[in-house]
Amino acid sequence: MLNVIIFGPPGSGKGTQSEKIIEKFGLAHISTGELLRAEIKSQSELGKTAASYIDRGELVPDNIIIGMLECKLRELNGVRGVIFDGFPRTVEQAYALKEMLSHHEEKVCLMLNLEVATEELVARLLQRGKTSGRSDDNLETIEKRIRVYEQQTAPVIDYYKNEGCYEGIAGFGGIDEIFNRICSVIEKRITEFSK
Ligand code: UDP
Ligand code: MG
Repeated sequence: MLNVIIFGPPGSGKGTQSEKIIEKFGLAHISTGELLRAEIKSQSELGKTAASYIDRGELVPDNIIIGMLECKLRELNGVRGVIFDGFPRTVEQAYALKEMLSHHEEKVCLMLNLEVATEELVARLLQRGKTSGRSDDNLETIEKRIRVYEQQTAPVIDYYKNEGCYEGIAGFGGIDEIFNRICSVIEKRITEFSK
């Protein structure tokens, strides 16, 4: 299976590029952020707990995220691969993902890191906040999310560099331009696989 992580700071374009990747390569999409927002909408217990972290721009604890993902992975059958969007967000979660996938005799094939300058992230998220209705797209929470990303999430990059599946993607330019860079990298991996 083609298991891909799409990684990057808040506002780097993970969700946008995931949609295009899914369409082109026929992968299943797992966005932990979207799963959490669905839980909040349905007012579940998990949703209530998650909201208290999300509204502050903090990470939902590893055990909650990992449990949610385990359920989701079990639902997947006969897919060509999975794109993990917004997960793993801590090195602990990266270890847990490796463990979970190994139970299905699978592994992460590729980690795509969308590299975008911080000023650009803030500008994009403020723009998105005008229409997204997301409780966390305001300046104060955006700045907190970026700090949390740098402290807790960025170390995940080194984890996947060590695993030998890291690829940096220049995240500037138009959506299609960035998507073309991603496609080149994915196609190169697919070719290497089939050798
Ligand atoms: N979140 C989390 N763990 C996850 C996914 C999301 O803690 O695995 C929380 C976190 O508070 C984050 C928010 O949900 O700031 C929004 O996540 P999402 O991935 O949707 O936002 P993005 O970073 O793509 O803007
Ligand atoms: Mg997102």
